[in-house]
Amino acid sequence: MNPSVDARSPVAKRLLHFVDGQFVDSVDSFPNISPIDGSELSRVAEAEKDVVDAGVRAAKRAQRGPWGKLNAGERADWLHRIADGIQARFDDFVAAEVADTGRSVSQARSLDIARGIANFRTFADLVRTAGSEFFETSTADGGEYINYITRKPLGVVGVISPWNLPLLLFTWKVAPALAMGNCVVAKPSEETPTSATLLAEVMRDIQLPAGVFNLIHGHGTNAAGEWLTKHPDVDAITFTGESKTGSAIMKAVADGVKNVSFELGGKNAAVVFADADFDAAVDGVVQSSFTNAGQVCLCSERVYVERPIFERFVAALKKKTEALKVGSPYDQGTTTGPLISKGHREKVLSYFRLAVEEGATVVTGGGVPSFGNACDDGAFVQPTIWTGLPDTARCVTEEIFGPVCHVAPFDSEEEVVERVNDSAYGLAACVWTTNLARGHRVAKQIETGIVWLNAWFVRDLRTPFGGSKLSGFGREGGRHSMDFYTESTNVCVKVA
Ligand code: NAD
Repeated sequence: MNPSVDARSPVAKRLLHFVDGQFVDSVDSFPNISPIDGSELSRVAEAEKDVVDAGVRAAKRAQRGPWGKLNAGERADWLHRIADGIQARFDDFVAAEVADTGRSVSQARSLDIARGIANFRTFADLVRTAGSEFFETSTADGGEYINYITRKPLGVVGVISPWNLPLLLFTWKVAPALAMGNCVVAKPSEETPTSATLLAEVMRDIQLPAGVFNLIHGHGTNAAGEWLTKHPDVDAITFTGESKTGSAIMKAVADGVKNVSFELGGKNAAVVFADADFDAAVDGVVQSSFTNAGQVCLCSERVYVERPIFERFVAALKKKTEALKVGSPYDQGTTTGPLISKGHREKVLSYFRLAVEEGATVVTGGGVPSFGNACDDGAFVQPTIWTGLPDTARCVTEEIFGPVCHVAPFDSEEEVVERVNDSAYGLAACVWTTNLARGHRVAKQIETGIVWLNAWFVRDLRTPFGGSKLSGFGREGGRHSMDFYTESTNVCVKVA
């Protein structure tokens, strides 16, 4: 581990760890590859065990030292300074996110970076204004007591995040953890290391006390991610990623009986009733299936359409999907970027082949687009729609995480609720109907952490977010994040 002067941005040639207030390098490194054209964007330091150790030690020191002594208002002020720091380098963050992921500039501006800032501001305001529970208690012998609940930080929180919404999901965990008085050791995905490195530069530039925020780059299994989960001085792990990784992490933390919060995979359904606003539902399903090339954990990969409008709906969906423009985010008019990597594309293409073997009708897509330029070395696939598969097909039950959906007809409300719930996952669903009572009735029965009625992807950061079954457990957002990132103590006082 070598201290180094800087990690220049927006896209540094070598991305470094940030430990105890300093950028540090490692002997090993790995390439950060552009999904747009396959070029090498930068090299990224691959943490050895001692870098993880140093990060955890620094976090523990800072938590027991300066950071742990701040009151909530002072921590909130720091979070606003971090948000201001991101805002001041907004375009650098946008450039980093677009280069690492291939998403559109407009998405990076309006969603990713804007939400990164909002995460810090929201939790700053929440922690500043939060109250606590209070109870008056009388006992049979005439005693009078008051009980109040005080929250304490957990200590050192390990943050492990995925590549699909890099800064948004990274800060979704870092911000509330810091707001509640913890210090963090955070590992972004090895596929998207740049925006987290810029965030470390912001932390340095605003002179956040050393050790409060530590950034570790590296891989997961038998590398930085796993070492972080197994570290005895890490008090809790907050993780977003695949369900099978969640399962591996759960085993890794078992011996230390660590707190975990898991936001995992999904196989989300969209349900379109015949009474839906037809055009809004078609637009909604195009959005919920193909946004970010289908690489949002909340995307719909299963679409159920009531039989009287099925044929018309599939035709309209096909037309809108074929109007999407796949290509480089730097080209005018592009709506749909690449997948994150060629490795992930291989997985998605294996499902494209499997769908045909399972008997799907390919309504549109199913292959790799050809550009005649550098994008041919990128990780693109065509937005794809299937029909005709049984509910038991692997393509209808397994998370694919690409721009793809299967559309199936249904005949009754009861039937569709049962089919939606017949899934190993339980993350999100959307329901399209103009029948108010039906909308509420169906939403209540769906076994997911969030249900949108005539909408998709709208998030109020004060609401609980998370999933059931293979989609994870625990909820983050608003006071639910405050619950996760703290240990509460009940203080019971005799007053009479
Ligand atoms: P992933 O599980 O492969 O990787 C996520 C992170 O975990 C990375 O930083 C990786 O290095 C690390 N990791 C991998 N193995 C590890 C191990 N054994 N120990 C510790 N860390 C390890 O996920 P991904 O491919 O980056 O992301 C896509 C997945 O994330 C999809 O399944 C998607 O549904 C899910 N996701 C869920 C939500 C949600 O809120 N529920 C949000 C976004 C993405």
